[in-house]
Amino acid sequence: MSERESAEGDGLNDIERTDKEHVFGTWSYQKEVSPTQVVDADGVRFTTADGDEYIDFSSQLMCSNLGHSADRIADAVDEQMRDAAYVSPGYTTENRAKLGEKLAEITPGELSKTFLSTSGTEAVEAAIKIARFYTGKQKIISRYRSYHGATYGSISVTGDPRRLESEPGIPGTIKAPDPYAYGSTLDPMESVEYIDEMLELEGDTVAAILVEPIVGSNGILVPPEEYLPRLKEVAHDHGALLICDEVMAGFGRTGEWFGCDVFDVEPDIMTMAKGLTGAYQPLGATIVTPEIADHFEENMLCHGHTYAGHPAAVAAGRAAIDIYQEENLIERASEVGEYLGDRIDELADRHPSVGDTRGVGLFRGIELTKHPEKRVPFGERADKISPGSTVVDEVSATAADHGTYVANMINTLIIAPPLTITEDEIDEAIAAIDAGLEVSDDAMEH
Ligand code: PLP
Repeated sequence: MSERESAEGDGLNDIERTDKEHVFGTWSYQKEVSPTQVVDADGVRFTTADGDEYIDFSSQLMCSNLGHSADRIADAVDEQMRDAAYVSPGYTTENRAKLGEKLAEITPGELSKTFLSTSGTEAVEAAIKIARFYTGKQKIISRYRSYHGATYGSISVTGDPRRLESEPGIPGTIKAPDPYAYGSTLDPMESVEYIDEMLELEGDTVAAILVEPIVGSNGILVPPEEYLPRLKEVAHDHGALLICDEVMAGFGRTGEWFGCDVFDVEPDIMTMAKGLTGAYQPLGATIVTPEIADHFEENMLCHGHTYAGHPAAVAAGRAAIDIYQEENLIERASEVGEYLGDRIDELADRHPSVGDTRGVGLFRGIELTKHPEKRVPFGERADKISPGSTVVDEVSATAADHGTYVANMINTLIIAPPLTITEDEIDEAIAAIDAGLEVSDDAMEH
């Protein structure tokens, strides 16, 4: 890939420089922000203004599950925008009603009524409020290795270091240990019993336990089969609800519709966003059981947004679910996901700096280590908000030099390609990561 040059010496073109000057980069020291202009995206690939083409091996922010440039969704949005671009949430549209019905159909068990919003963080905010209103209790237990969003409620239940600058956050949030077999001294099943004890010690004050059924940005942590069923039992034994945050794991990523389907567990409340529209429009959703829904017949649901159920966004959501269903993308993710898993295992065999590989379907992580026996992470990026290392950044950068975009977080490469990816495209991306891992191999402790 070409080295970028510019008269200003910052490597940015005019558009990128204008963007950097006038638009904040998220989760960043602004002086380090270096936006890259994307001019085209099609299928599993995107192209930058330089003309460089990349395989999108992380679906951008783990959200472009359907790949890029699906005309059918663009047409559905276009048609809705021309018919009625916006109606207040007190009105409805055919797309909104049909999307609600579809969500009841594809989500597990009896989950049936959905609160609509515009993002994952808002879906989590709604879940927290609904759980508090319904149970009349205030506390939410969530886990350390988790991300639930950036607004105040959801950053307060987030466990990873991104929460630190926003603390103390909202009252009543408690963090629990994680099912992280590779990196924690606690066995994953012991960690559930720990939560059981926490609930006991908190008395009857906990509204809900909130978890990502398969942890996403904190390193693709897949708990043992018995973990989530036991967690639901523990919650219910103490009069607390189970909320599954499916914002990243949902919509086929795991080879099932939702992460909790992998464990055959029906939560009381489930949050969705990202893959819900395949990222063609911003849309969040919080679905609840009929029992919880009934509560709000006589008790006011004190929550809402101007753009709740925005016509264009729900049109995209409805069209996206049609595509998942008609193109059998969930089954496809499971099949192609097996192939991806095998290819990743080969990388682990070849590269000593691969400490652990985890995941299911097209939702996989490669955790790096500088010392495999002691499981020591690379830790040079001395930054309490975005821990990890310059080494894992260099692995991603080298993969990009070889034509593949792969995100990373906390020493882990986050592999989550569009569900439409082919085995040949996987091979291409794996070859790029193979080259990247040479860098981490060279950086190991000897
Ligand atoms: N929940 C999970 C599990 C997520 O991964 C994310 C974002 O990555 C969120 C919530 C927040 O979603 P958003 O960025 O759309 O607000």
